[in-house]
Amino acid sequence: MTLSKIIAIDGPVASGKTSVGKLVADSLGFKFFDTGLLYRAVTWAYLHLNLSPEEYSLISKLTDKIFVSFNSPEEVQIFFDNTLVNSYLRTPEIDQQVSFISSIPELRNKLLELQREIAKNGEIVMVGRDIGTVILPDADLKVFLMASSKERASRRYQEFSQLGIDLKIKDIEEMINKRDQNDSERIYAPLKKDSSAYLLETDNLSLENVCNKIITLFHELI
Ligand code: C5P
Repeated sequence: MTLSKIIAIDGPVASGKTSVGKLVADSLGFKFFDTGLLYRAVTWAYLHLNLSPEEYSLISKLTDKIFVSFNSPEEVQIFFDNTLVNSYLRTPEIDQQVSFISSIPELRNKLLELQREIAKNGEIVMVGRDIGTVILPDADLKVFLMASSKERASRRYQEFSQLGIDLKIKDIEEMINKRDQNDSERIYAPLKKDSSAYLLETDNLSLENVCNKIITLFHELI
């Protein structure tokens, strides 16, 4: 399969993947897809259906009921068993469980197919943890975004506040670090920078600066 015009962006929690990815996609007229939504949707279903953590096979089968629909190039609707779940996916409860769900190899294999299907026509910015390493290793450009855990906790604090969720920054920072540790230490498709990915530290860069850097890199490569 020749994949064309694909940008893979990976990075830890709240490193800016979604904001940056959307802006880059918008500037280039590409689609944007945040793969974390898939793992979040399965986690939502797992909690909603009260499954137990040992039921690996049943948990993996939940992926069969996920349906993805693009409303516009950047706006995706995620359905689980015909229920639109987007608005349920960013809760602290899901944040706490999602690393466990995403560590199940059988489940990741099923979602791998879905993610490649979504990217198959190219002209897409896809963000996640293993996009450059596992899902789309032939992407034209791979970027690994980084920011300090203080900066990332403050971004997540603002996101939670907008949703009316009141948590202390210190607790958010702890949650973030725990999730990154789980995602980085899992055996199958861990969070890591691909050797060919560009590392971008975003602490002191504006959103526009980060996007411009990525777009420049992309034009240099393609
Ligand atoms: O990016 P976001 O924070 O929404 O991702 C939620 C979780 O989904 C991550 O912490 C990780 O456990 C999982 N994930 C993953 N691989 C991806 C995207 C997300 O394992 N490509």
